[in-house]
Amino acid sequence: MTVLHYAEIAKDVSAMTVKPNLLDIERERQGWSWDRAKAGLDLPNGLVNQAYECIDRHAAGQRAQKHGMIWEGADGKVERYTFAELKRHTNRFANALRTLGIKKGDRVFFFADRIPELYFGVFGALKLGAIAAPLFSAFGPEPVRERVQRAEGVVIVTTPNLVAKVNAIRGQLPSLKHVIVIAHRQGKPVASGDLDYQRLVDAASDQFEIERTGQEDWSVMHFTSGTTGMPKGAAHVHGAVLGHLATGKYVLDLHDDDIYWCTADPGWVTGTSYGMFAPWSNGVTNLIYEGGFGAAKWYQVIQRHRVTVWYTAPTAIRLLMRAGAKVAKQHDLSTLRYVMSVGEPLNPEGVVWGKEAFGLPIHDNWWQTETGAIMIANYLSMPIRPGSMGRPFPGITAAILDDEQNEITAPMVEGQLALKPPWPSMFRVYWNDQERYNSRFKRGWYLTGDKAKRDADGYFWFVGRDDDVINTAGHLVSPFEVESVLIEHEAVAEAGVIGKPDAVAMEIVKAFVTLHDGYEPTNELRRQIMGHARERLGPGVAPREIDFIKILPKTRSGKIMRRLLKARELGLPEGDTSTLEED
Ligand code: ATP
Ligand code: MG
Repeated sequence: MTVLHYAEIAKDVSAMTVKPNLLDIERERQGWSWDRAKAGLDLPNGLVNQAYECIDRHAAGQRAQKHGMIWEGADGKVERYTFAELKRHTNRFANALRTLGIKKGDRVFFFADRIPELYFGVFGALKLGAIAAPLFSAFGPEPVRERVQRAEGVVIVTTPNLVAKVNAIRGQLPSLKHVIVIAHRQGKPVASGDLDYQRLVDAASDQFEIERTGQEDWSVMHFTSGTTGMPKGAAHVHGAVLGHLATGKYVLDLHDDDIYWCTADPGWVTGTSYGMFAPWSNGVTNLIYEGGFGAAKWYQVIQRHRVTVWYTAPTAIRLLMRAGAKVAKQHDLSTLRYVMSVGEPLNPEGVVWGKEAFGLPIHDNWWQTETGAIMIANYLSMPIRPGSMGRPFPGITAAILDDEQNEITAPMVEGQLALKPPWPSMFRVYWNDQERYNSRFKRGWYLTGDKAKRDADGYFWFVGRDDDVINTAGHLVSPFEVESVLIEHEAVAEAGVIGKPDAVAMEIVKAFVTLHDGYEPTNELRRQIMGHARERLGPGVAPREIDFIKILPKTRSGKIMRRLLKARELGLPEGDTSTLEED
């Protein structure tokens, strides 16, 4: 089944004030060479270090006095750092780590809010050749222990408001040698036994010779979102920066004078690949906002800093929709020229709503922690088919495979979404889990664990996670398509759809929905929503049951956790909930 009822959104490139970097996806694909893309990097002596390519080379050139980072604190305080300053701050931290005996390959964890020192720290660690591993600051002690233990972390960099969580598990972390506390922003003392970030960097030189790292040397480790189960620690290499540079240029369409804002936290991969590496490898001003979500608050951030390119997530877009386009229109968002989304499928309704609220459709793109960079995208110059994740990046080969890993070439047949390895930003291992890593590669393909289909023009359509696709009376049903139809109903804010075991149909489609403010969860409303779904999807696919709930369980990166809806529905154990967002 396909829900293809939204008209294609055509693009008029000649009307765009900034000419897109990618004008013709087909031509770009045919002539693509990753080697040629390397011309956009410095690669001194054939070496590659992400921190060098993102910071030092700009500090040494014409961008030295350009603001690489604009930071706005949760309290509204604004700080600006030039590339030259970023170089000095990161050098100092790299020296501090070296003084502590931290070496190439050591795992350095970051457990802090989005403050400038988090960014100095990650790049300082990269300069030293250490593996930087950022964690969500909202994690409790247990998820921190789990991850640091699995990766045998040597250092945790944190802040006074979080250090108690580290203390709670410290005794269980034999690999941990140092806890560095960034205390000066909170004006709190550092406990004896811990190291004071400020003291360390004050005592360190701002000159640093970057460790000799090559393309295959480790750079960052990221744990997956835990949407489908226990998070996996995907390790990446310095050579990945080529993928960040290229997708930053051709998907994010970054230009030198852009003010770019990625709302993702570095606790998940979008917050590093696109909250750090893509903008900085392109030498672009990167806005970092420490505060959390709020519709008016976010629009003020865009207005105040004159954001031009904005990368966010479907969950945020659905919340903005919930607040209403009116709130957007009360702000001056005229600097915005391009809005993108990642992390979950973006409902067609959301794509189109962007036009209403910002005069700009929202561009969905697809990738994973494992892929390290965007793999499939809607480009600024390419017509959008709302509900589709777009077309593969020029240097990437994507395919739909059947269960025996044969390529399915017929259009709109669903199968496993697979990618042809290698590509520069690809993960190189699941840390301490080689077997699981190996299981993701079959017959020359990397299997993504997602189901999708491809239309006759090469656009890819997300169907669902392998585990989420529903089999009802012989039909395969995409939870995403059902959810997208449900949120078209004026009362429905968000929806999560699962397959509920059934003796006759194998599974029946069951939906959980949250309502917009002002709507009451009545039986009459349930009947209306069901009626709408039946009309749009047909009775075989429409949900048989709809429950109203107050909030949908989501990961901290904002993804609907269908496995939890299912476990709760069936009274089964919830499994790993370390990434569950708790309000
Ligand atoms: P885990 O692997 O631990 O279950 P996760 O897969 O959610 O968690 P991430 O690597 O953060 O961890 O997310 C990647 C996944 O998110 C993709 O495999 C896909 O299922 C989903 N996703 C990301 N972007 C999109 C998109 N634009 N459309 C549809 N799905 C998307
Ligand atoms: Mg995954």
